[in-house]
Amino acid sequence: MPLIGVLALQGDFEAHEKAFQEAGAQTIQVRAAADLARIDALVIPGGESTTMLKLLEIESLMAPLREFGLRKPVFGTCAGAILLAKDVVNPPQDSLGLVDITVERNAYGRQVHSQVANLQLDHEQPPIEAVFIRAPIIRRAGPDVVVRARWKDSPVLVQQGRHLVATFHPELGASRRVQSLFLDMVRSCNNQ
Ligand code: GLN
Repeated sequence: MPLIGVLALQGDFEAHEKAFQEAGAQTIQVRAAADLARIDALVIPGGESTTMLKLLEIESLMAPLREFGLRKPVFGTCAGAILLAKDVVNPPQDSLGLVDITVERNAYGRQVHSQVANLQLDHEQPPIEAVFIRAPIIRRAGPDVVVRARWKDSPVLVQQGRHLVATFHPELGASRRVQSLFLDMVRSCNNQ
């Protein structure tokens, strides 16, 4: 059973822990670089990316997280997606740069604070409910990035190698299929 670390500096990390436990994983909360040595993969939750970035800098976690991402899977959702992106606009800000995408923050407009959409993950199964909260839009995806789901013509779930990015909040919907997809990625990384 993979041990999933959930970055617990800010945001809805408890909901991610519960969702991954429901999908069959063990979880721990990650607050310091030493926690990274124990885990098979890391989840960076939604929240507020500027605040999370400040806390990562205060805790000296930027370099350890970048280094972790060179070896192990990382799943970023919403603010976590912004932190994983290579380039961030509106406004530009620093990031871990582990996934070759450009994201625009708060890109669905000021009025649209939250929306629930039906997302088709694959053709065999019914769509899942995806909750978008002040979400970013993926404006560019590099050649090694695989788009796993789109909404309103933009990619909203993408994979690059061992890393997964969602601009929505999979922990807030009822389905655990996105968590299961990430756990499959973690298992195949462990077996390599
Ligand atoms: N709007 C937030 C940001 O730019 C992200 C929102 C979220 O994680 N739900 O950081």
